[in-house]
Amino acid sequence: MSKVEIRNLRKTYDNLEVIHGIDVDIADGEFVALVGPSGCGKSTLLRMIAGLEEITSGEILIGDDVVNDIAPKDRDIAMVFQNYALYPHMSVRRNMGFALKQRGLPASEIDKRVAEAAGILGLADYLERKPRQLSGGQRQRVAMGRAIVRNPNVFLFDEPLSNLDAKLRVQMRSELKELHQRLATTTVYVTHDQIEAMTLSDRVVVMNGGNVEQAGPPLELYDSPHSLFVAAFIGSPQ
Ligand code: ADP
Ligand code: MG
Repeated sequence: MSKVEIRNLRKTYDNLEVIHGIDVDIADGEFVALVGPSGCGKSTLLRMIAGLEEITSGEILIGDDVVNDIAPKDRDIAMVFQNYALYPHMSVRRNMGFALKQRGLPASEIDKRVAEAAGILGLADYLERKPRQLSGGQRQRVAMGRAIVRNPNVFLFDEPLSNLDAKLRVQMRSELKELHQRLATTTVYVTHDQIEAMTLSDRVVVMNGGNVEQAGPPLELYDSPHSLFVAAFIGSPQ
């Protein structure tokens, strides 16, 4: 596990600043939800942590290391997107093991990690299937499996459940919670769904227009929102 520290981070696209010097501290093993309306900068922040987006200024630390100049593949993270792309021609087993194979891990180690992740995710009976033979929820589990097998120190999720129907979202929510209880991997979880954020996370960071409005445990935000914006977003009684 690793802590993640964001220090005075800014992001400018084409001379327009969209992240305005924010600070966020995420402790070892903590599950932090990043919430806020569409366009407030959640994905940009997550992509900068992953190294997929250049940092304009400021610092990101993973563990004790400043990772600003570290390539994505050398950061100890695994990211799960909303539009998870599985390889259609590969079995679940191969989809889950693919990145490990690229990294040159021995087949026996890959098998072991895939079997472990499949057990955790309830995919043990589906390992030989192709993605098209799976339901939406099972496919999303395979996408998570690909992240889990890498044993990262940090998970980054960008709205991983938003393509699923409401019932499945609720089910996957509790599965994610169990997963975190089991692995205790530091997690940054982007969502625009406040219920998801409140039920899953140790702490919620509310963003608005490229700034952090408030950060705190779910109940604290609910009971003592610092602004009308936070109250409205979290759904506190006015
Ligand atoms: P969120 O994930 O919270 O919906 P984003 O991080 O995707 O927000 O976007 C934050 C802001 O940055 C938005 O105003 C968006 O239009 C802008 N933006 C995001 N990606 C790019 C890009 N590649 N080029 C220019 N502007 C971008
Ligand atoms: Mg986004």
